[in-house]
Amino acid sequence: MAKFHINKKGVPALCRAKDGNCPFGGGEKHFDNKEQAQKFIDKRNEKEHGLLASNIFTEEKKKKDIINIRKLTKVLENNGFDYYDESDLADVSELELTQKASGDGYESYTMDVFGDDYDELKRLTEELNIRLPDTVWYD
Ligand SMILES: [Zn+2]
Repeated sequence: MAKFHINKKGVPALCRAKDGNCPFGGGEKHFDNKEQAQKFIDKRNEKEHGLLASNIFTEEKKKKDIINIRKLTKVLENNGFDYYDESDLADVSELELTQKASGDGYESYTMDVFGDDYDELKRLTEELNIRLPDTVWYD
C-alpha cells in the first residue's frame, strides 16, 4: 500500500522507499494518505508558531517594562523622589513615597503631590503591577 511521508521541503510526498529504508523516518513518520500527512504538518506548525508567538509576547513585555521603569524613575525623580533607581523598581511590588518634613509629620494625597504627573504615574505603576499608595508621608 502506498505511503506518504513529509519530505525535506516539508510537504507530503509519496514514499518510494522499500520497507524500513526511508530516509524520512519510520512508521510514525508515514501516513496512509496525503490528507493525514498534511494534518500532521498543520498540527506541528500550529504548535511551533504558538510557542513562537508566546516567546515574542514575553520579549515585547520585557522591553515595554524596561521602558516603563525608565519613565517611572524619571517621574519620581522630577517630583523629588530620587531614592528609587531602575533596578529597585524592577523588584518592588509597592511604591513607598516618603519625603522629609521640616516640622511635624503629615501625609498628603499622592494625586496632589504629583499634580500633572499623577496620571502618568498611575498608568506606569498599573502597567508594571506596582501598587501606588494614595498618600505620601512627610516625616
Ligand atoms: Zn518514506
